[in-house]
Amino acid sequence: MSIGNRKKYNHNDKKKMNSLGKTGEQNTHNDTAYIIPEQLCTNKNRVAIEQALTSPITRIPTQFKQYYLDYQNKHQRQLLQRVNLIGQLTFLSYFFVDWFLLPDIATLSALLRLILIISTLLINEFLFRYCKNIKILDSLLPIYVAIAAAAWLKLLLISDSPVVTTYLYASVIFILLGNLCIQISFRYSIFTSLLISSVIFHGVSKLVNLHGLILFSLTYIPILLLSMYISWNNTLNSKRSFLRILLNDWNYHALCELAHTDELTQLNNRRQFMHVAEQAIQKWQKHNVVCLLIFDIDFFKKINDTYGHDTGDEVLRILAEILRQEMRFSDVLARFGGEEFIALLPNTTLEDATLIAHRLCKKIENHHIYIQNKISLNLSISIGLSQLLSCEDDLSVLIKHADIALYQAKNNGRNQVAIYSCE
Ligand code: GH3
Ligand code: MG
Ligand code: MG
Repeated sequence: MSIGNRKKYNHNDKKKMNSLGKTGEQNTHNDTAYIIPEQLCTNKNRVAIEQALTSPITRIPTQFKQYYLDYQNKHQRQLLQRVNLIGQLTFLSYFFVDWFLLPDIATLSALLRLILIISTLLINEFLFRYCKNIKILDSLLPIYVAIAAAAWLKLLLISDSPVVTTYLYASVIFILLGNLCIQISFRYSIFTSLLISSVIFHGVSKLVNLHGLILFSLTYIPILLLSMYISWNNTLNSKRSFLRILLNDWNYHALCELAHTDELTQLNNRRQFMHVAEQAIQKWQKHNVVCLLIFDIDFFKKINDTYGHDTGDEVLRILAEILRQEMRFSDVLARFGGEEFIALLPNTTLEDATLIAHRLCKKIENHHIYIQNKISLNLSISIGLSQLLSCEDDLSVLIKHADIALYQAKNNGRNQVAIYSCE
């Protein structure tokens, strides 16, 4: 690989890295990182989520609504599909009640139930495969229920059985079925409850007189309210569990960031470096193309002594940024401690690594660091370079060799690169 073609970190890579734990080599703990992008991880949004969680009528904050729907789409589809099937089987099984109570329309009932179930199964097969809108899937069963209720009440109207006026009380099952399965949005439950109830009341009003209608309402309305309450509770729980997962995930990533990151420079810390570098070495060891650089600032103590510790910190931040910009996404860069930095360059030959190290030395030497907006500082670094030589070498040997080389670079007069050699 030629040096000129080396893909460097850019600003966007850095942002991406923050969510990945800083290098492309790592994976996050689970797939929840997809839930929210980094730009939404602000304190304001966090407060909004916490407030929504403590509110008695939890509402998903607008900026997270789409993520809520995506999340539900991923996790509730199967449940909805199953509930749909159970609802349809319940509807089918009621044929036996029709057969027993209304023998005169039993054949018609069987036919109607079969037609309805086959068509809903076909529609479901299509929608659950292709429809991405979870709200539509959530309101499918209540809509089927409204159609089934209308058809069943039509059968009652046709039947001559004397038990029709008693049997019609079974229509409460429709509203229960319609509402119990709503999981995503309570607003949809209000619409579908209105739809199912108007269908039922329309049918019932044709079957009984005003007195009978009042009696029916006294049974139906409490069950309607109860089923709506259950539906409200279900949607509330769905929203709260989503927000809790969001917050947990947020906390987890914040903790990971803290555990893996050096606070001053925002680079990987030593522990994280050892972890990621071990993995990178295992991957590249057999190809013998892994190099390691250790950078140490020359006479850094002088900067601290002359300008103060805060200025020293500022210099470390600036240097970290320069190094970050010079590295590829696959390189593992870290603050190794104090004013020492380390970089593992996987898939890099010794020649390429030497060129990179020289280029870095030059870049830092020529870089004017402005501190306190006026004083220009000239800085230099010494670099120790080592290469993974045999399959027996591991990370600690590689670091030891780079450290020896760094010592040589310092001894030879600083502001230079020294390559470890075993002679
Ligand atoms: P050399 O060229 O031999 O490396 O000389 P040096 O002065 O850089 O010597 P050395 O590497 O031993 O100095 C390390 C200094 O870095 C000592 C310590 O005060 C300073 N240092 C370590 N960590 C920090 C830090 O986080 N912030 C600041 N401002 N200084 C630090
Ligand atoms: Mg040092
Ligand atoms: Mg030093």
